[in-house]
Amino acid sequence: MKHRIVVLGAGYAGAFTAGNLARRLSPEDTEITMVNAEPVFVERLRLHQVAAGQEIEAPKLTDVFAGTGVRLRLARVTAVAPDRQVVTVADADGRGELGYDTLVYALGSHVADQGVPGVAEHAFDVAGRASALRLGEHLDSLDKRGEGGNVVVVGDGLTGIETATELAESRPGLSVALVARGELGARLSAGARDHLRRACGRLGITVVEHTSVEAVEVTRVLCADGTVLPSDATVWTAGFAVHPIAAASGLEVTETGRIVVDRTMRSVSHPSVYAAGDSAYAVGDNGRPLPMSCASAGSTGRQAAEAIVGRLTGRKVATVKQVYLGNHISLGRRDGILQMVDAEARAKPKYMGGRKAARIKAGILKIALWGVSHPTFGVPKRQLPLTAAPNAPVEGRVAA
Ligand SMILES: Cc1cc2nc3c(=O)[nH]c(=O)nc-3n(C[C@H](O)[C@H](O)[C@H](O)COP(=O)(O)OP(=O)(O)OC[C@H]3O[C@@H](n4cnc5c(N)ncnc54)[C@H](O)[C@@H]3O)c2cc1C
Repeated sequence: MKHRIVVLGAGYAGAFTAGNLARRLSPEDTEITMVNAEPVFVERLRLHQVAAGQEIEAPKLTDVFAGTGVRLRLARVTAVAPDRQVVTVADADGRGELGYDTLVYALGSHVADQGVPGVAEHAFDVAGRASALRLGEHLDSLDKRGEGGNVVVVGDGLTGIETATELAESRPGLSVALVARGELGARLSAGARDHLRRACGRLGITVVEHTSVEAVEVTRVLCADGTVLPSDATVWTAGFAVHPIAAASGLEVTETGRIVVDRTMRSVSHPSVYAAGDSAYAVGDNGRPLPMSCASAGSTGRQAAEAIVGRLTGRKVATVKQVYLGNHISLGRRDGILQMVDAEARAKPKYMGGRKAARIKAGILKIALWGVSHPTFGVPKRQLPLTAAPNAPVEGRVAA
């Protein structure tokens, strides 16, 4: 019997972790299975570009994992039973169970409707590939009508800013409004806020500030102060939520359902489970929770891989830095903002804006995609043997 490692979710966190483990652990002792719902890697960082109608590469997971030794299982995860150490999956052939000895939970996140009436029924989002494509098709149909149309983007976090600017630049026939609960770009430095405001002006975006949305209807958005915004397409970018699978499983989770992990990304309630990326509630080196982000997915995934390799092969667990340095925000294809943050996660006064920032952001996107598409690149091929019996109960395991 081999030690069975099952990785859930081939996103920025999971794909890297699976490739890294396959490279470093002996295939004689371990069997690594990657479970993912979609057959391609979804480059979430570019889904606003997908909605804007741009062609975005989506590498096939069979290519990504070819030759790595990782077994790919295309299926939707529907449940995890950490006390029995099994995962329930569903695919076109029905339901099945996968047993594991070590689990890496990296199912990412999806849009959060924040309980606002009408969002689930009438709003679009860019949090997943299918929903971004659906928004793109709807905007195509508005564009084709040739009568213009109103797009309301709700939420001025990074995703809302990137979405509003991208849509306004790529689809100039549409009128785009961006709704902010407070001041536009409140978490940016003063200079970056001014830059953002100028970019919105240049792109013809109507900025609606200090406004909370109370309901979304088919053709309008209703705000708490009585403002009514006409909308042919409402795009909800007011936050991300994690899948309820973790909370339902009995794993210790936060109020919002993220898995609580220790410094090594191991579940604090079930030691055979690790979590990484958006699904994990991990505390950074500054003592603050890491934000849901591509950078955090990378560093938490690397830490989970280090911890698993270390523990299974009897080595010291290496520490991977968990620091969040800042935000790289695209404002369409020709403008951007790089805003670094301090140790308290506050925006530093300096920022970089303009074409150079846009080019750096484009470079970061390329590197992130390349890294995920080559999950074993740069990882020394060690193929370490396990020191414990392959199916020995994990140290400190919570009794079923
Ligand atoms: C439009 C947009 C722009 C963004 N821009 C930035 C940015 O500029 N910088 C930044 O740092 N972050 C950005 N983010 C956030 C970033 O994309 C996420 O933080 C990151 O993707 C998290 O990585 P992950 O591996 O945890 O999850 P994901 O990348 O979401 O991967 C999760 C994987 O799990 C799979 N999956 C989910 N549920 C199931 C299931 N039930 N069964 C099987 N498989 C499943 C999914 O198909 C996916 O492959 C952006 C997000 C969006 C939507």
